[in-house]
Amino acid sequence: MKVYVDRNLCDNHGQCAISAPAVFRINSEGILEYEDDVDGSLRNDVEDAIDVCPVQAIFIRDDE
Ligand code: SF4
Repeated sequence: MKVYVDRNLCDNHGQCAISAPAVFRINSEGILEYEDDVDGSLRNDVEDAIDVCPVQAIFIRDDE
């Protein structure tokens, strides 16, 4: 599945990195990095990250 973060919305505070550390991380410059092609086994973690993101910047796009 594909994961997309709208960087116009993201505030880089990193709540997603706590919920889904295999997908999201805050780098040494304080900027969010993330995997955009994610194994489906991580869906629950990504959905948790979507739930905790305070600005609803995270989206899942299922593969066609
Ligand atoms: S939780 Fe949302 S706003 Fe915070 S770093 Fe992650 S994507 Fe950005």
